[in-house]
Amino acid sequence: MSKHIPSRLYLSEEELPKYWYNLRAFMKNKPAPMLHPGTLKPATADDLSAVFCKECIRQELDETTELIPIPDGILEFYRAYRPAPLIRAYFLEKALGTPAEIYYKHEGTNTSGSHKLNSAAAQAFYAKQDGLTSLTTETGAGQWGSAMAMACAFYGLDLTVYMVKISAEQKPYRKALIETYGATLIPSPSNTTEAGKKILEKMPGTNGSLGCAISEAIEKAVKTEKCRYVLGSVLNHVLLHQSIIGVECKIAFDKYGVKPDIIIGCAGGGSNLGGLIAPFMGEKLQGKSDAKIIAVEPASCPSFTRGKFAYDFGDTAQTTPLIKMYTMGNGYIPPAAHAGGLRYHGMNSTLSQLYHDKFIEARTAVQTEIFDAAVKFAKIEGILPAPESSHAIKVAIDEALECKRTGEKKTIFFGLTGTGYFDMSAYMQYNAKTMSDHIPTDEELENGFASLPKV
Ligand SMILES: *Cc1c(COP(=O)(O)O)cnc(C)c1O
Repeated sequence: MSKHIPSRLYLSEEELPKYWYNLRAFMKNKPAPMLHPGTLKPATADDLSAVFCKECIRQELDETTELIPIPDGILEFYRAYRPAPLIRAYFLEKALGTPAEIYYKHEGTNTSGSHKLNSAAAQAFYAKQDGLTSLTTETGAGQWGSAMAMACAFYGLDLTVYMVKISAEQKPYRKALIETYGATLIPSPSNTTEAGKKILEKMPGTNGSLGCAISEAIEKAVKTEKCRYVLGSVLNHVLLHQSIIGVECKIAFDKYGVKPDIIIGCAGGGSNLGGLIAPFMGEKLQGKSDAKIIAVEPASCPSFTRGKFAYDFGDTAQTTPLIKMYTMGNGYIPPAAHAGGLRYHGMNSTLSQLYHDKFIEARTAVQTEIFDAAVKFAKIEGILPAPESSHAIKVAIDEALECKRTGEKKTIFFGLTGTGYFDMSAYMQYNAKTMSDHIPTDEELENGFASLPKV
């Protein structure tokens, strides 16, 4: 008889992880280095120091230290909302009639509503340690802005959030949450920066874009004393902070004797997926596991499945260092979709290398299918998921039904990255059956690829 698995796989305070897992240290084929866009030489700590905090840069460039201790000042904050629940989906298994075991890690229980707080806390702590007094960032869907606002309130830093104008209008409660935690929210483009003014002059009626908001936030950080910029995904130090997700799961699974066969995560810039899989991928790279790892992306923004593996800018204004990644091209503007957190043209460089080397598989789904899965999950498991997270739910259900067909008793594990409380207008559209799907044509993709820099 195998051990009884409770509905929640608890960890005691002593069992909580005290380190992050640096996946790159376990890779033979490391991700290609970031390049300085002017010299095309690998970016140095010096190149990055005007924009980012010191420790984040050190972590960004560290591809050899396997386990990185989490400072006490961050552990203290993590203890306020971690461990995130690791749940055995008994209700879902029963409803699907599958022989598979299904587990999920629920990162949406903190007030900001997603996993993003794990890196927000770390980045705010390091900024304070550097003696900075303020930070800037951008937010699209609003989850990252909410997380940074919470973290800055805790560590005592001022924060300016450039929120894509259309999102600030469509998600007034996200805006209110960010302001409640004390951050200054500026709809972007704005006339507080040269980048914003330029765009407003060229396109007076624009709704804004993530690329533009990034440019404004970087400009403001560089021009303000004791201020730096923080980013919520894509970069390797963000993935490192998110490894707390996977390490907690690994400790709990080992305690209960569970070994996942299939691990599934949604992929926007790659931070939650990279964090979720970190210790499991580490074992896979060492030949100790043959778990299947699946990234799920929106059909409207298919970086892995239809993108190119090439050096590209991280932002539309072409100001960041060049990153070798699967990308749609920095000029690709994904069609409007409700999973705003997945509307990014590129993908983290570590995950891109692992996908290129066939350690990760990728799938796409359209948003009506995603909401079918989201609503099913909400009714059965009781948790209202974020549209982004529902990409992973969709594929977990597919895999569980495949087990039902074949009779195989696999262990399926997915990341539930956030709650859908702030996405009710999307659920309203779904309920009213006015939601549409958009799959870009090859021609639309070619337009995006045309923006790739010639390196
Ligand atoms: C931002 C976000 C994502 C996607 O970002 P990654 O960096 O790819 O993890 C997924 N889910 C939620 C709820 C988010 O807020």
